[in-house]
Amino acid sequence: MTAHTHQTLRHPLKFRTLQVLRVEQLTPHMQRVVFGGDELHGFISAAPDDHVKLFFPNTSGDIVTPVMGSNGPEYPPGRDYSPMRDYTPRHYDVSRNELTIDFVLHGDGPASLWAARAERGQQIGMGGPRGSVVIANDFDHYVLIGDETALPAIGRWLAEMPETTTADVLVEIPDAEDRQPLPSPAQVTLTWLERRGTSADRSELLEHALRALRIPAGDTFYWIATESRRARNMRQWLSLERNVPKDWLKAKGYWKTGADDSDDDG
Ligand SMILES: Cc1cc2nc3c(=O)[nH]c(=O)nc-3n(C[C@H](O)[C@H](O)[C@H](O)COP(=O)(O)OP(=O)(O)OC[C@H]3O[C@@H](n4cnc5c(N)ncnc54)[C@H](O)[C@@H]3O)c2cc1C
Repeated sequence: MTAHTHQTLRHPLKFRTLQVLRVEQLTPHMQRVVFGGDELHGFISAAPDDHVKLFFPNTSGDIVTPVMGSNGPEYPPGRDYSPMRDYTPRHYDVSRNELTIDFVLHGDGPASLWAARAERGQQIGMGGPRGSVVIANDFDHYVLIGDETALPAIGRWLAEMPETTTADVLVEIPDAEDRQPLPSPAQVTLTWLERRGTSADRSELLEHALRALRIPAGDTFYWIATESRRARNMRQWLSLERNVPKDWLKAKGYWKTGADDSDDDG
């Protein structure tokens, strides 16, 4: 039996201030923002589902990020903290020193609203990534499942997969116009599932598609990122009904219905 060893890497925690270089609306619900700036040099992201903490302007319009003190990150006293949210480094171009982040425009919250109005020259704070879990690349098959918040991680993973890898990908999006190209050297079967008006926390399209999936023989790794309750339910179903071993399954709530992401269980 193959070991399928995942690798956990730690990175020195750094807080940076970045500048918006370009903004591009990829699809009706996805805004791409490309960041740069001197402080971005040396940025490291080793796994496609890494995340950074982004710090958005506080009520006074200021970016107030922690600074590294002797006891770890500390906020400057007496300042109103910046709202902080998790985002995926979609692509880092070392030679141009440019970091691409894709923001879902879901219509509420400091991150989504900031991204909808982002303009060249604006600043943002960023911390991390603090670490990366590099999933073993020796599984026989991969299944990637997510809603639109998972598209940056899925897109990056597919782009980085070797051509010998096979993968089934299930992506749930609001409408057909929210499809985007997901090029990959690997052998990928991609299924777009469109909610067409059903909310992202109530939909069951991914759950039905997962149950209907015909998995080839061999060892399969499953990765899931959706609204928290849905990710938890799919994880439970895979482990209880399909006996998927714990280390062959990663399911994470990328947002929580009715709550802001800052109190997510991570
Ligand atoms: C590891 C990780 C990586 C992530 N990567 C990305 C990424 O690359 N791109 C990306 O867009 N998101 C990503 N997310 C999800 C993102 O952090 C959350 O969607 C976050 O809540 C957005 O913050 P906000 O300020 O816009 O809304 P919040 O203030 O957090 O929430 C406001 C309201 O909007 C609802 N809400 C939040 N997100 C959504 C959503 N997607 N759809 C519908 N309702 C929502 C909440 O339930 C709440 O009622 C990632 C999350 C994690 C944990």
